[in-house]
Amino acid sequence: MGNCDFVDLAAWAKTKSLRLSWVSTNSIVGLTNRSNRLRGSVGSRQLEINGVKTWLSSPITSRNGLLYITTLDMRTLLDPILVPVRNKPGQRVRVIALDPGHGGRDPGFKVGKEQEKVLTLLWARRLKARLEQAGFEVILTRARDVYIGLDDRVAAAWRARADLFISLHYNAASEGSAAVKGVETYCLTPAGAPSTNVQPEQQGSTAKLPGNTQDTHNILLAYHVQKSMVTRMRVEDRGVRRARFVVLRNTDMPAILVEGGFLSTPDEARRIADPTQRDLLAKAVVEGVLAYKRLVERR
Ligand SMILES: [Zn+2]
Repeated sequence: MGNCDFVDLAAWAKTKSLRLSWVSTNSIVGLTNRSNRLRGSVGSRQLEINGVKTWLSSPITSRNGLLYITTLDMRTLLDPILVPVRNKPGQRVRVIALDPGHGGRDPGFKVGKEQEKVLTLLWARRLKARLEQAGFEVILTRARDVYIGLDDRVAAAWRARADLFISLHYNAASEGSAAVKGVETYCLTPAGAPSTNVQPEQQGSTAKLPGNTQDTHNILLAYHVQKSMVTRMRVEDRGVRRARFVVLRNTDMPAILVEGGFLSTPDEARRIADPTQRDLLAKAVVEGVLAYKRLVERR
């Protein structure tokens, strides 16, 4: 364990005025200060930040009675959320590119009569209206049922000089897992780190990608959108996750991919198809974006 790669959790906590305490002896650890409450477990990559599930790149480890997290997790998860970066003066969050997943010959997940491509477009339209009400300018990478390549979606955001890129998807679990449900928000995996859902032997290159220039903004946006969805709606929190999805790799503006629920789970499929619930989901995403905007534009 090289000193340069790991940080003493207690020492780091002190710099943030966080009080470290054991919630259960030698396994669950809590970190609290006036405005934040974190909870993690030794040996686990899951870390709850203010009630929102997040994933560390490496588990919290214990050695000689001390707890450690990686420098990478401190730099790309904890610090950006607890001490958000500020944009340069005048750099506003104004134009948002919404990317309804799939389309045309690519239906995405198909469960019964529902097709992901149809539902992501309905969600995007509702979200566009809600974002415009909140004062944002919005472009859609597709406004109808048409196939658009992943690189072209990113290019559309560039052309519009979008300040944020938000890709919208719905999930489905493999057969026999009809109980899997909840919402999750992805942002690009930091360079050198493993993605959340990928087995170690399947990890490809972990080299730095263009989207990694936005690491601190990516995680802040993902966290606030996820937090808003799980606090404003009755949905299960599947957490802020990391992936090297094509639409997150080359986006040079802060970018996230939101999975709005599981089509494979009947009660969630009903929620996803319900226009009132769709509007609630759109409102929750808008509130998350506004929370992010307030933080990065604060002076
Ligand atoms: Zn999808």
